[in-house]
Amino acid sequence: MAIQTLDKEVVIIGSGPAGLTAAIYSARANLKPLLIDAPVDAHKQTAPGGQLMITTDVENYPGFSEGIQGPDLMIEFRKQAERFGTEFLEEWITEVDLSERPFILRTDNYIVNAQTLIIATGASAKWLGIPGEAKVPNGFGGNGVSACATCDGPLPAFRNKTLVVVGGGDTAMEEATFLTRYAAKVYVVHRRDKLRASKIMQDKALHNEKIEFIWDTGVEEIVGQDDCGVTGVRLRNLKTNKERVLPCEGVFIAIGHKPNTDLFRGQLDMDEVGYLKTSGHSTATNIPGVFACGDVQDSVYRQAVTAAGTGCMSALDAERFLDHLPVAMPSGEEVTMEGEHITQDHRVIIEPDGSMIPNQPDKVLAKEK
Ligand code: NDP
Repeated sequence: MAIQTLDKEVVIIGSGPAGLTAAIYSARANLKPLLIDAPVDAHKQTAPGGQLMITTDVENYPGFSEGIQGPDLMIEFRKQAERFGTEFLEEWITEVDLSERPFILRTDNYIVNAQTLIIATGASAKWLGIPGEAKVPNGFGGNGVSACATCDGPLPAFRNKTLVVVGGGDTAMEEATFLTRYAAKVYVVHRRDKLRASKIMQDKALHNEKIEFIWDTGVEEIVGQDDCGVTGVRLRNLKTNKERVLPCEGVFIAIGHKPNTDLFRGQLDMDEVGYLKTSGHSTATNIPGVFACGDVQDSVYRQAVTAAGTGCMSALDAERFLDHLPVAMPSGEEVTMEGEHITQDHRVIIEPDGSMIPNQPDKVLAKEK
């Protein structure tokens, strides 16, 4: 097939809650967005719809008083985006060029020129890669093994049970502390004798009487039975090499997430883990006209509802940018499509040629009115 060229005002990459919410808003604003998402690939473990496609009960997404299955929720998101005219393209993006507008996105079959780009490529939980961890039927994933305590901790399967959290960072401390609301006991298994988590998060976990730490220890295997799920973890002390099985009924893997940002490396500002940096006041990245929403720019909240919220923000930011209005940048300045910069204190406009003019209402016009 010959390479086709598409010219679009708004292009969204990613079809989780953030990307689809951005699509709903920009489609309703008549911007005819194109949403590009990864095709289904069993080997790369990708499927349109994002992380909720591998979740079962979603009990905390507002509007569903009885809860909803993750995949069913994403079908509703998608239908809503389709209803307002979002176009979908299932292609791997191989290259992006953000050096000038229109931004250029290349796939095997298309060149897409985008006036604005909304990045909603999400993040993926890291896994240990040990026996028993894979999703049912190959392991106990979804049957006692999870990578999200906020999503799954309150489910009946984990209430009043003995649980294991693996990891020593902020996520592990937060998840362990959260789980003590429901669990009878929480073990934190960490591979070293020092935590990576911030002091405040460490202190909360270390002083929680339901939490017990198991130091210098790796999890070698998650054991259980198909009918009742997880029954324990096989641990190995990394200093003594001694192995033992610790009985438990649930395992939460909290060893970090990997934001899906490799495509943008060297072009967009990222933190040391790879999360895209956005303005505190908008979803703008360091390149005017490129916005980021959802888990790709959020290492803290990581909820479907916060992703959807920032997706809505991205669409409104893109709309504003295309209307030639100023958008807040991570630097604190505001920037327009024409390249005008409004200083952080809002007093001066710096024109693209470097000239400066006061950012004050025109007094003559104000008088005439
Ligand atoms: P981190 O990378 O900070 O921590 C990951 C932890 O998992 C480390 O303790 C690491 O061990 C351990 N680990 C990694 N790989 C393995 C492995 N293969 N086997 C065993 N253990 C492993 O990730 P987090 O998700 O905890 O945090 C990411 C970022 O998000 C941080 O900047 C954090 O501050 C932030 N965050 C903030 C929160 C908040 O403020 N509320 C909440 C959650 C996250 P080791 O220490 O030995 O490397």
